Amino acid sequence: MSDIPYKIYLEEKEMPSAWYNVRADMKNKPAPLINPATLKPMGFEELRGVFCDELVKQELDDVTPYFEIPDEIRSFYRMYRPSPLVRAYCLEKELDTPAKIYYKFEGNNTSGSHKLNSAIAQAYYAKKQGLKGVTTETGAGQWGTALSMACAYLGLDCKVYMVKVSYEQKPFRREVMRTYGAAVTPSPSDTTNIGRKILADFPGTTGSLGCAISEAVEAATSTEGYRYVLGSVLSQVLLHQSVIGLECKAAMDKYGIKPDMIIGCAGGGSNLGGLISPFMGEKLRGEADYQFIAVEPASCPSLTRGKFAYDFCDTGNVCPMAKMYTLGSRFIPSPNHAGGLRYHGMSGVVSQLYHDGYLEARAVEQTSVFEAATRFARIEGILPAPESSHAIKVAIDEALKCKETGEEKTILFGLTGTGYFDMVAYEQYNNGTMTDYIPSDEDLQIGFSQIPEVK
Ligand SMILES: *Cc1c(COP(=O)(O)O)cnc(C)c1O
Repeated sequence: MSDIPYKIYLEEKEMPSAWYNVRADMKNKPAPLINPATLKPMGFEELRGVFCDELVKQELDDVTPYFEIPDEIRSFYRMYRPSPLVRAYCLEKELDTPAKIYYKFEGNNTSGSHKLNSAIAQAYYAKKQGLKGVTTETGAGQWGTALSMACAYLGLDCKVYMVKVSYEQKPFRREVMRTYGAAVTPSPSDTTNIGRKILADFPGTTGSLGCAISEAVEAATSTEGYRYVLGSVLSQVLLHQSVIGLECKAAMDKYGIKPDMIIGCAGGGSNLGGLISPFMGEKLRGEADYQFIAVEPASCPSLTRGKFAYDFCDTGNVCPMAKMYTLGSRFIPSPNHAGGLRYHGMSGVVSQLYHDGYLEARAVEQTSVFEAATRFARIEGILPAPESSHAIKVAIDEALKCKETGEEKTILFGLTGTGYFDMVAYEQYNNGTMTDYIPSDEDLQIGFSQIPEVK
């Protein structure tokens, strides 16, 4: 055994003091957000009606490499950060691989995922602006929980539109949010115009993320003193999540470890973007080289099979439009999909990096994801979130390839969270009733046909 500990903990004082903005080092910047009505790029004045001022500035800034992390956010981070970088000795042994496997564990807080890193930042800037509250949507509930925690801490109102099917099927998630003081509304609801319209057009619908986003945006823009916040996709969220990669890099540098390969699961791209940012910066500046792999569900394959185009971010077409890899805003994964990462689009930053060939993407089927999750849980102890398990799956695949070739590669992956609220999906897997569904080209064509033409 080498002298690298199982867990590499940074000291509190070694926590990053600034977030890193990878856009500053990108030659091809992500395309600007545009107004869905005028198709013109949206500037500060237009965006500040939806988002907090400071966050709009971060969103629009493609050139400043570092943003200082305010002290108040750093003190909140101290409650659960720095997060551990774990050497997966047990998994390596079980796989009998010469590869060295590390994972950065972000599940060590009550919300159970990395989303808290951006939730506290967004809530802080809303509070600082003197706002009364924020609105958002949540699907499986991790983001809503993280935001509820952050708002409770800062004394900010929090209105969460929760996809109706999750609201009904995940009562524990819902009650965690309410315990932290959030008002949780099942979406679509009759509290917004768009919600009422969707209910009239599709009676009995169980909702979707895109629809909940539209409701949350409408609620924010029509209520005095409120703004909308989003847990992924936006460049500001990637900026906040860079704390993951920065800590990782600091911990690895301490022990002279250089990863060959960095793997992250990709829903909207925020954890992946945050984890890879400082390493990608080195690659973009020509200082070092790494292999980056984004992992997505085969049933929601935005990077591997989507189109790179301007598209709506929500069903109601009220959000700014983004240029991204997308399956079309009306795309909904098949009903048997249980593994999360179901958003139809992808962060503009991650999309541009992928388009320019800096990043690879792989799509994996959910039964293989749960197989990897179970294997990991049994040997490393942590019960991983289904989302995170996409990264575990590819890390295991790569480690097994090393076993074939005898290469001693160093593999780093992001373990974004825990799966305690996902036991219905685990139950399906344990009962052998989980199935895979890969959409056909015809299936995908339906979503593509609704992507607007933007010249
Ligand atoms: C939300 C979430 C993801 C996916 O979101 P990204 O923005 O792609 O990072 C992954 N893992 C967990 C645990 C999540 O809660």
